[in-house]
Amino acid sequence: MGININDYTFEEGVKQGMELIRSERVSQVVTINPEMYAQAEKDEKFRTILDESEMVIPDGVGIKIALKIKGYNVQRIPGIDFARRMLEECAKNNLSVAIVGAKEDVITKAVNNLTNEINGLNIVYYHNGYFNDDSVIYSELKNYNPKLVLVALGSPKQEYFIYNAKKILLPCLMVGIGGSLDVWSGEVKRAPQIYQKLGLEWLYRTICQPERFKRIFPALPLFLLKVVTYKSKG
Ligand code: UDP
Repeated sequence: MGININDYTFEEGVKQGMELIRSERVSQVVTINPEMYAQAEKDEKFRTILDESEMVIPDGVGIKIALKIKGYNVQRIPGIDFARRMLEECAKNNLSVAIVGAKEDVITKAVNNLTNEINGLNIVYYHNGYFNDDSVIYSELKNYNPKLVLVALGSPKQEYFIYNAKKILLPCLMVGIGGSLDVWSGEVKRAPQIYQKLGLEWLYRTICQPERFKRIFPALPLFLLKVVTYKSKG
């Protein structure tokens, strides 16, 4: 359907992430879900961002099902788990980290929790996600020169923010992490394990925040319908 998705296992994804951190460029990780596919369909620039991203990993169960319909059996790599693991790897390897996004109290709590929970984690810079001038944040990031930058501005804002940063920042890995800070701050509960295992986190989040329903529905069924009809054409 015109979008390349990496079929790494979780461990391969982490390994690739670490290789990119050590490379001589700014790299972008997109954790793709059906809503992003819908965005790419109507927004040419967003499609370019996906094309040029160094890693596109299947975050949502919708993408996993779509790939299965196409005959590819891939492991889901939830963005929140991938980002958390990258934080742990950075802590182990003495690599500095920056985080941008979410409301001020949310990011402050998340940074505190992460620092307490991950031994050796070095967060050199963080900023809330409600700013008017991206260039101010870029120049602060450039000064601190972190090797991993997590960006939680929701999609597609975070993908644009990261894409535009590629021409400005010094080499680092940048990951769009959506609502992960809300979870790490303790403000939003992650779905219980059983939902995670069954790929039903979206259902749990919709039960807890019914206003999300209109985001997921009809996007998910429409997306799957498109996948199926695309298959019958191809
Ligand atoms: N957000 C932000 N700045 C904005 C809009 C959103 O920092 O201008 C934050 C918001 O506070 C939340 C996250 O981005 O922490 C978006 O979360 P959402 O659940 O929408 O992300 P998803 O994972 O569903 O893409």
